[in-house]
This record gives sequence, structure tokens and C-alpha cells, in this order.
Amino acid sequence: MYTKEFIVELKKRISMVDLAGRYTKLIKGGDVWLGTCPHPDHDDDTPSFRVWHNHDGSWSWACMSCHTGKKDERHHNYGTDCIAFVRWMSDNSKSTHILTFREAVERLAKMYAVPVAQSKESVAMANLQNESRRYETRIDTCRNYLHGRGLSDEDISFWHLGYTGYRISFPIFTESREIVGFSQRLFQGEGPKYLTSKTSDIFKKSKHFYGQHILDKDYPYIFIAEGVFDVVLAHKYGMKNVVCPLGHDLTDDHIQKIKAWGYQPVLCFDADAAGVRGIRSSINKLAEQHVYGSVLPLPQGNDLAEFAQSVRSKLMDYVSSHLMSYWEWTLKEPQQLYAIQLSNMQRKAMPLILSAKKSIQKKEDMILFNQYVRHNFGITMGEDYESAME
Ligand SMILES: [Zn+2]
Repeated sequence: MYTKEFIVELKKRISMVDLAGRYTKLIKGGDVWLGTCPHPDHDDDTPSFRVWHNHDGSWSWACMSCHTGKKDERHHNYGTDCIAFVRWMSDNSKSTHILTFREAVERLAKMYAVPVAQSKESVAMANLQNESRRYETRIDTCRNYLHGRGLSDEDISFWHLGYTGYRISFPIFTESREIVGFSQRLFQGEGPKYLTSKTSDIFKKSKHFYGQHILDKDYPYIFIAEGVFDVVLAHKYGMKNVVCPLGHDLTDDHIQKIKAWGYQPVLCFDADAAGVRGIRSSINKLAEQHVYGSVLPLPQGNDLAEFAQSVRSKLMDYVSSHLMSYWEWTLKEPQQLYAIQLSNMQRKAMPLILSAKKSIQKKEDMILFNQYVRHNFGITMGEDYESAME
């Protein structure tokens, strides 16, 4: 977006004492400057806020009350520099918009009259954001329809839904909350039901997930749904880290991303024939990269959006009691298919059993697996079974 040199120059030009000093009175005490916390949500009566100069010339800052022991859920990198400071200040209960990295840089450059060399990408992102705001102002046309699909006005503004004139727009945010494209659902006229923005300098649809901007890094799972309404409604009823690919099945880029994030993927596709095919192909793709996803089977005929709406606050109870591990899901099918004749089933299921076994890392899972295989397929998995039972 901006060159590294530009960001370095900006940070060098801006003294944190001057910047924070515009919001709170700072007093020098030894090597630090102290003051009451400038954050709009912190009614501070002790000087909890401090700014200091590091040996390498960079600045740090912190509020001993706002930051100590708190999670940096929005990844603002508390305390690191002037850019983090203005983003943090904008993230308060009264603000309607939290500054993105790009906007924070723009604001600082303006405040300190540092000439900005804008990249092509940053201009494109600014344009998309204006486009999205324009769509948002027209959303009233679709409001009744969206209420009918189970969305409240709060959901509509949380996801920044808008109306293009023909389509309902769902802006696609990056992890740093920049809009890079749209998923659009047909509302009036004719055409494909869903459209995703074309590949551009800033957007490649096979790389992004809808919902990736509100991931909780400390949560172990990522739920992968089929569509944008699934994401919005499951999120509404308490499912964290729920995302969907955009107009694609899972791609290798997606899987690399899941691996880098470190989440355990849970597939929650529609409970119909196409959904089952999708689960099978995705679960195999994941296993090829040694990622062993779980499956959340939904009641027959449901998609996640409908299901979330029907169970509402019980959604996560259902998740904890119905989540199936990779191997359970893999072995469920041959068990149904070959149940007629035990010897036939054993022979046909063996390759699947062996491949499912590779996914197991923990001893307690191996015990469960061995019991399951013995019970459902009449196969005793040799020494693993005996040693597990000792
Ligand atoms: Zn504070």
C-alpha cells in the first residue's frame, strides 16, 4: 500500500509525545512521559498512560489499565507506534468506524503535513470503500427482504450490507478491515444469483474468505460454511470464526491460510447431496495437506443459515454435541454402504480405515478410533488396540 520507506519516514517525523500530547497532558518523569489515559472510553484519574523512547529511536506507549493483561482482539498492535495509537483511539464505544491501517496513515500524514505517495492499491481500496458507503445509503430498498431472511438492522450495519441498484452487496474485508471486493446477491432483474468481484490488483477471490476480518485468534476452530447468509446468521447466533469461500470450493490458497492461522477447520456445508460431495472433496483436499478437518453434520435438508435461525441460542450446544472428527466422518459412509455383508465391508473399508487412522495424533483419540472400528467393522486394529486397553 505504502512503501516501507514512507512508513519509516512518517514514524520518524512524528513524536509520540507530541501526538499523544494533543489528547492528554504529559509530564516527563525520568525516561518516560506520564499522563491520564487519552482513550475516550477510559475515565482515568491516575496517570495510567505512558510514552517512552526506545534505544533504536522508535516510540512505544501503553495504558497500564487499558492494555495490561488485555487481548488485542482487533490486532491494533497496542503500544507499538503512532499508527497503532490513532487506530486505538478510533476504536471506542462512540465511534462508528475504526480506522484501518491505511486510513490511520492518511490521517497522520495530513496532521503532520507529510507528503503521501499513494500506491495504486491504496487508491483502489479507498475507491471501494466509497463505493460501499454509497451502497449502504440505499439499503432501505432491501431491508424488508433482509428482515425476512432473519437479519436485524444491527446485522445489516455490522456487515455493512448495501444495495447496488440490482444486487445486495456484501463487502469483503481483509483481515486488516480493508474492503477489497464484494459478494453480491441478485435482488432485482435477472442474472446469476451470486456474483463475486473480478480479480484485480487487490483482490483474488480464491484467496479470501468472507468473514475473515472478525476472526478471534485465540479460538481453536474456523467454521467453513457455504455462503454469506450462512456466515451472517451463524455469527448472529454465537458461532465464532465462521467464514465462507467466495464462489469457489476450498482452494490450496485457503488451506495455506488456515494452516498459517493455526485453526482446526470444521466444515458446515448444506445437508443435501451437493453439500456432502463438497464435504468429501474439501476434507480430502485438507487431508492431502495434512490438515484433518472436522464436520458439523446438519439435519437433512438444512443449510447453516436456516438451521441457525431455527435453533438460535442453542446453536453452539448443537455444535459441541454433533461435531464429527475427520475419521468418524470418513468411516461413516462405508459403514452404511457395506453393512450388508461383514467380510465384504471389512475388505472394502480397510483402505479408508488406514487412511483415517493417519489423522490421529492423540492416544485418547486412538482408543476411540479402535473401539469404533472394532464395533462398526469388526476389525481389531492389532497392537494399538491391545496397548490402548492395558
Ligand atoms: Zn486507558
